[in-house]
This record gives sequence, structure tokens and C-alpha cells, in this order.
Amino acid sequence: MGRIVKERCPHCNKVMRNDGTEAEPKWVCNNPKCIEYVAVPPKEEEAGGTKE
Ligand SMILES: [Zn+2]
Repeated sequence: MGRIVKERCPHCNKVMRNDGTEAEPKWVCNNPKCIEYVAVPPKEEEAGGTKE
């Protein structure tokens, strides 16, 4: 018996991306051509100030 790990978009039927956590998944479409597409949220982890 296999658990469904990936969700598929109801619109484009492509495998969706999980923007949430494992305990609280938030599935969003990862297909830029789909109307349900959600852009990757910008990470705010680089607030430390590492300059190059
Ligand atoms: Zn989609």
C-alpha cells in the first residue's frame, strides 16, 4: 500500500509543489502556464547581511 506523497493539479494535472510543511502541506501548482500557478515565495533567510 503506497501513500500518495505528491498531489496533482486539478487544472493541468501536473505534480504540485508543497509550500507548507510535512505536517501541514500546502499544495500549489508549479506549472507557470497553469492558471493555478503560484510563484515561489522569496526567502527571507538572507537577512543576516552577507556581502560579496
Ligand atoms: Zn496547474
